[in-house]
Parts: sequence; structure tokens; C-alpha cells
Amino acid sequence: MAETTLFEKICAKEIPAAIVHEDDLCVCFKDISPQAPIHYLVIPRKPIPRVGEAGPEDQSVLGHLLLTASQIAKNEGFSDNGFRLVINNGPDGGEAVPHLHVHLLAGRPLKWPPG
Ligand code: AMP
Repeated sequence: MAETTLFEKICAKEIPAAIVHEDDLCVCFKDISPQAPIHYLVIPRKPIPRVGEAGPEDQSVLGHLLLTASQIAKNEGFSDNGFRLVINNGPDGGEAVPHLHVHLLAGRPLKWPPG
């Protein structure tokens, strides 16, 4: 069986995190090493390792992550100024934690292309 990831432990409240939102399908918390004034992670409770390993059965939870991120941006009042959602997948994608997570970044103009 796969080892329990850090993010599963955050979902189970075994490790503390600054939780911004939680519901039946996902948890959103502040990134411990923020890359922008607002930097949250939105993760599914289901331990999907990465988006490349999600299957058709995960369609609704994947949609839920994006809609939740967008709703948080609206609720917190930074949606109109803009925000960025990022999903890192695998070694070249910059993935460090093998539990699917959507980065929600905002609060400053973000450059493109990313590094
Ligand atoms: P990634 O590189 O896409 O896998 O992103 C992993 C993110 O998790 C990084 O931005 C880290 O700063 C963040 N992170 C690692 N440990 C924690 C933690 N205990 N609480 C909150 N964020 C974390």
C-alpha cells in the first residue's frame, strides 16, 4: 500500500495547516512557503497522486477543485484582480508532494512564462 502523504495527514488533521476552506471533497490551506501574497493549495480528500493518474471516475472531484478555487477567490475578493491556478505533474512539472494539489496564487501581477 502507498505511504500516507503529508497532504493526507493535513486532511486528517494529523498535521496542522492554516485551513481556508473544507468540504466533503476537498481541503484548501495556505502554502507553507508562499510564492505570492496569496498562495493556497486546494487538494482532494481522495489521495490521487497527480492529475496524470486521475481517471474518469475522478471527473467530478477534478471539476470541484477548480470551482472551489474560483469560489474562494470570489469570497476573498481577489477574483476581479486575477489569480493563477497551477498543477505541477511529475518531476519535470515541479511536483514535490505526490498528492494532487491545485496552487491558487494571487495578490501580485504574475509573470508569464513561468520559470
Ligand atoms: P508542488 O511542488 O506542486 O508539489 O507543491 C508542493 C507545495 O506544498 C509547495 O508549494 C510547498 O511549499 C507546499 N507545502 C509543503 N509542505 C507543506 C505544509 N506542511 N503545509 C503547507 N504547504 C506545504
